Amino acid sequence: MSCFKGKYHDELVANAAYIGTPGKGILAADESTGTIGKRLSSINVENNESNRRALRELLFCAPGALQYLSGVILYEETLHQKTVGGKPFVDILKEGGVLPGIKVDMGTVELAGTNGETTNQGLDGLAQRCQQYYEAGARFAKWRAVLKIGPNEPSQLAIHENANGLARYAVICQENGLVPIVEPEILVDGSHDIDRCADVTERVLAACYKALNEHNAILEGTLLKPNMVTPGSDAKKVSPEVVAYHTVRALQRTVPPAVPAVVFLSGGQSEEEATLNLNAMNKLNTKKPWSLSFSFGRALQQSTLKSWAGKDENVEKARAAFLGRCKANSEATLGTYNGDAALGDGASESLHVKDYKY
Ligand code: 13P
Repeated sequence: MSCFKGKYHDELVANAAYIGTPGKGILAADESTGTIGKRLSSINVENNESNRRALRELLFCAPGALQYLSGVILYEETLHQKTVGGKPFVDILKEGGVLPGIKVDMGTVELAGTNGETTNQGLDGLAQRCQQYYEAGARFAKWRAVLKIGPNEPSQLAIHENANGLARYAVICQENGLVPIVEPEILVDGSHDIDRCADVTERVLAACYKALNEHNAILEGTLLKPNMVTPGSDAKKVSPEVVAYHTVRALQRTVPPAVPAVVFLSGGQSEEEATLNLNAMNKLNTKKPWSLSFSFGRALQQSTLKSWAGKDENVEKARAAFLGRCKANSEATLGTYNGDAALGDGASESLHVKDYKY
């Protein structure tokens, strides 16, 4: 294996390390237009450009919140949007010490001959898109591959195909100045136990790092965004300490120390559950050569959305909810969260959606 030394090498390594700064994490605000529509309809708000912009402004301009973030993942529309006062969101983030990121996969398509397993679209023309996103201020990217646990799933085909897709995406991003977040999400759907999730997570991550090495990715300039290792959504829950033990062990077995940070997705966990699980991992006294942080979508936005309900008079309250979650997750990256953010509107509500599309 020899990783390539392209013109962006040092910048990629520096930006990936910065995103992994302990005490900071990522807000995933890159819901596609369809997905954000579902969130907005849950609070009876119409899915139009103006409301999508208003929600993103509420988040990005929440006083004090950006200190807890090192990155925000945007959808293409948001990358070019501005505050109501006319300031580009990208500038707001940069001034707050937050790197703008961009979702670059173009969704999933079914793999023929499988039981509904998928691979991603979006490699064609990706280099050109990355160049445009870099010009527009983006410094990292996300590509969400989806795997599922079933009696015979994930198949070897799905594991192999998604690992190769992620590796090819990662290298194209690196050739064009974007730090790739490698996201092989194993859905929580199912009644399997935590051991089965651990086994599948280890097989999937091992395949991803084999592919990343074969494709000559600069591991120091990548980030991993995995699921936490948990029982399936239809199985009995386990404590944060048990989740932490199984998750960190799966990472120890498969993720090279060259990777600077692991930034978890929340995957349908409640806000509080996701924070407590992350906190337990950072409290765990074992070998951890990467920082363990968050790249949450639902688990950073649910109580904020509920508090906002699309009304101007609720913006302040909604921003306070968002600040509370950002601070709690920042503490969780240090293992110092004491549970005091649990009282927020909807903080303990399950956010699980079957067969979730981003
Ligand atoms: P959730 O935290 O809502 O799972 O989303 C994170 C994400 O960006 C999935 O790609």
